[in-house]
Amino acid sequence: MSLSMERFDLVVVGAGISGLSTAYHVKVDNPDMRICIVDRNPTYAQGNTARSDAAFRDVFTSKINYEMSSSSISFYRHIQFDLGFNLGMHFNGYLFLLGKEKMNSPVIKELSKTVDSKLIGKEEIKELGFITEPDREAARMMNLDEIEGGFIGKNCGIMEPDLLAAYYYSELEKMGAEFRFNTNITRLNLQPKEKLDYPGEPFIWQDKYIESVIGGGTELKAEQFFLATDVWTGPLVEPLGIDPLIQPKKVQVFQVSGPGIEMMIGKGYDSDHSIFPFTILPSPSIDLRPDPKSKSFWVSYSEKIGRSYGLEENPVADNDFYSGNLYPVLREYVPVFIESKVSSSWAGYYSMNNLDGSYVLFREMNLSILTGSSGSGIMKADSAGRLASALISGKEYAQLYSGHKITVSDLGIKNRNVDRETLII
Ligand SMILES: Cc1cc2nc3c(=O)[nH]c(=O)nc-3n(C[C@H](O)[C@H](O)[C@H](O)COP(=O)(O)OP(=O)(O)OC[C@H]3O[C@@H](n4cnc5c(N)ncnc54)[C@H](O)[C@@H]3O)c2cc1C
Repeated sequence: MSLSMERFDLVVVGAGISGLSTAYHVKVDNPDMRICIVDRNPTYAQGNTARSDAAFRDVFTSKINYEMSSSSISFYRHIQFDLGFNLGMHFNGYLFLLGKEKMNSPVIKELSKTVDSKLIGKEEIKELGFITEPDREAARMMNLDEIEGGFIGKNCGIMEPDLLAAYYYSELEKMGAEFRFNTNITRLNLQPKEKLDYPGEPFIWQDKYIESVIGGGTELKAEQFFLATDVWTGPLVEPLGIDPLIQPKKVQVFQVSGPGIEMMIGKGYDSDHSIFPFTILPSPSIDLRPDPKSKSFWVSYSEKIGRSYGLEENPVADNDFYSGNLYPVLREYVPVFIESKVSSSWAGYYSMNNLDGSYVLFREMNLSILTGSSGSGIMKADSAGRLASALISGKEYAQLYSGHKITVSDLGIKNRNVDRETLII
């Protein structure tokens, strides 16, 4: 079968939020550049972006994560409130429920000073509908902490990832970027810069580059290539001897509804708010993401010890995991779950950088790679796109929407300069 061949200035593989944001910033900075965004799915944002809780927070211990998320949040706020493009963004807050030790920890003390936040005590937590002292026997058996207090990040909340993706997609279309969907890239075509036409090229002593990406009956040639393929980056680059330094970590989400939950969803953390805050239980750190549309909670938990890394073709959530692992904990802390049912479920992956919990952004030859969003790739996508765009354009720094500048190589491998994030959910 002969391949159809096309040529561009830049080919982006992956039309999730990372690929879209990056392509958008490249195109804004270089309007004449011919860009093609390729994805194996029938349309954009069908990978992990579609499976996300899409909560956002600027509560991070690492400086770079704070700068990237707070700037992205400001940009999203601008899109929704100044430009009038609805992103489903609600500033309903991000509530960390904490045991005694964490409540009095230096991390919480420091965060209280540096981010817009509020500490709440046991009484306010009870008013929100939680039990702060779980049943003693259950607590002993399941290692449940007594809740001592809560930390609420205020510049935090929830949004809809498909709407954010739709914003970047529509802007890219207006600027003339091209899309190729249903195109599964199976090979990065490594070639010598100066071809000798001998069998066995490229030889170790030849300078090399990526000439094209191939898959789905198509060959796309370009000056530069950018991979925004998240957890699927390894299979594309490992055959070339490039290590993306990430591991896929499965995350399951259960949509749970019931009469008590419906009431709870409409309760804000104070009288100015009418949606329940995104909440993280003390231990195990199960997330409760309110979904105002369906008046349900999305309950999620990212797999930890005892569950392997690895990719499945079509990851699904396991209802037995919910009933055996999550429900017993929820029942003790949040009594409205006693009369509730799982109405839907799904699963996806975090692209985990287990060394410091931040993105990995680097370049080999004419190939740039962004991965390792480590469970917070929606809330940081705009800044990640600006950084990746700077890398593609050969710039030393990226200027974020907030005006803050980040050295591009800080997120790279060779000169990495990132402090370890301790608040990965
Ligand atoms: C359950 C869950 C909850 C989450 N909650 C949050 C949250 O609350 N807040 C937050 O900020 N983040 C959250 N995240 C993380 C966030 O969703 C991701 O960080 C983000 O979506 C990553 O975007 P991406 O574009 O890098 O990857 P993806 O959206 O996965 O996009 C990668 C794209 O590459 C395409 N692709 C891959 N390989 C190929 C190939 N060979 N050829 C062609 N196309 C290819 C895929 O089809 C896909 O469209 C969550 C993730 C999950 C799974």
